[in-house]
Amino acid sequence: MSSSERPIRVLVAGRFQPVHSGHISLIEQALELGDVVIVVGSAEKGRSWDDPFTCRERLEMLKAAIKEKGWDASRFTIIPVEDIHSNELWVAKVEMLTPEFHTVMTGNRLVEHLFREKGYTVVRPKAFRPEVCSGRYIREKLRAEKSLSPLRSIVPPSVSRIINKPDVLRFISSQKR
Ligand code: NAP
Repeated sequence: MSSSERPIRVLVAGRFQPVHSGHISLIEQALELGDVVIVVGSAEKGRSWDDPFTCRERLEMLKAAIKEKGWDASRFTIIPVEDIHSNELWVAKVEMLTPEFHTVMTGNRLVEHLFREKGYTVVRPKAFRPEVCSGRYIREKLRAEKSLSPLRSIVPPSVSRIINKPDVLRFISSQKR
């Protein structure tokens, strides 16, 4: 295959704690540039204050949201990546675990800096309703309200179904600082 025939792949990385409409907008913007490699970061984390959802649940959320949007699943590669003590080694680890990508779309300044240093083109996404489409805001609302009703417009229905599973809700409801 010549270089001009190679598919353009765009990498997006996130914790997806949980997947929300801001992430869906990010993925939609990446899809406009090419096929999408989604790195599920902090893969080792789960059932903690900042990271309540396990890697398996986050993978399930992403796959369900992609299906719900009617996007062609063959345009996505989804790879979990554990955190590592060194930022430079994290980029090398991401490169080792993913198919070749050309562009990185991220709003995270550290991720932007790390990939720019390695020579990648980095594109910032347009923020989608950033005042509410944020993992922290959604986790705080979930803990306070113990219900997804107030989050209906910012958490896709497919993701709500996963958050609504009894063991997930039980964990969130029991979280106390
Ligand atoms: P995140 O909060 O889930 O966000 C993922 C992406 O979605 C970011 O680019 C974010 O941009 C974007 N986004 C969020 N809300 C949006 C909205 N409303 N509209 C449009 N875009 C929106 O995850 P993250 O913290 O960036 O994830 C980075 C992952 O890389 C983490 O798991 C981190 O641990 C990992 N990492 C690890 C190392 C290491 O192990 N040494 C080093 C670097 C990164 P914004 O940031 O602008 O919201």
